[in-house]
Amino acid sequence: MSLVYLNGEFIPPDQAKVSVFDRGFIFGDGVYEVIPVFGGRMFRLPHHLARLEASLTAIQLRNPHTARQWNDIFTRLSANNGTVDQSVYLQITRGVAARDHAFPPNISPTVFAYASPLNYPPAEQLAKGVAAITTADNRWQRCDIKSIALLANALLRQQAIEQGAVEAILVRDGLMTEGAASNIFIVSGDRVITPPKGPYILPGITRDLVVEIAHSHDIDCVEQPVPIGSLRSANEVWMTSSTKEILPITRIDSRPVGDGKQGPMHVRVFALYQQYKQAFIRGEVG
Ligand code: PMP
Repeated sequence: MSLVYLNGEFIPPDQAKVSVFDRGFIFGDGVYEVIPVFGGRMFRLPHHLARLEASLTAIQLRNPHTARQWNDIFTRLSANNGTVDQSVYLQITRGVAARDHAFPPNISPTVFAYASPLNYPPAEQLAKGVAAITTADNRWQRCDIKSIALLANALLRQQAIEQGAVEAILVRDGLMTEGAASNIFIVSGDRVITPPKGPYILPGITRDLVVEIAHSHDIDCVEQPVPIGSLRSANEVWMTSSTKEILPITRIDSRPVGDGKQGPMHVRVFALYQQYKQAFIRGEVG
């Protein structure tokens, strides 16, 4: 990572400094995005920028850049790393002010971004699947905002790690919401199901693409509430995110999902997702 972007400048990481009074540091008052970069181009950029806009609006911050400016910033950051697959991280906080919960008038946001090589899950995880736990979704009621305040998510993910799993599947009022850092799909018979969007889940860009790909290939895919019982009896369970793509979950709470192996629907949808990615790299899809 040779240069990072901070407030209009491209500078070495060790020169990028933020005030201890930044509201991101003090309150977690900010939002972020993570955007994959393939062949030097940002994957699903309009979708990520639309979600960023929604997060900014929800916390009453103005978008500091136009889509073109964001694209130029990300292109310059990712050019540092050559053409390997990467992810761009960007975060915007409300800025620096004396500590007070109320929004201070007339401050400038702090804008930070960097690009780094993307480390996909190891091939073995893809082939064998990973373990997850279920646990109560004890986060707040605006999980649709991509907030940098991720303490609850970090605690939930850590709970999974300490039980030898890689993800925590969250349950609220008897319904599955999402993972601590991913969206969740189940396969029941030939039907692919993921919970509908709403205040309790992040509208994942990978989730939306999986739904889109399924629909365009006549795969039965619906967005409907998933009771915990349906999760437990599913033939397949997947987690999706920009950096993990689509990963099979083959054990939940130490019990096998279906036959405990990567399922045929995962094989099919994962292949379609990879085809879509290749078409994007060739410039055939936007
Ligand atoms: N839900 C949560 C809580 C997340 O943190 C993430 C991203 N890490 C996702 C879902 C997946 O979103 P995306 O596909 O846009 O990466």
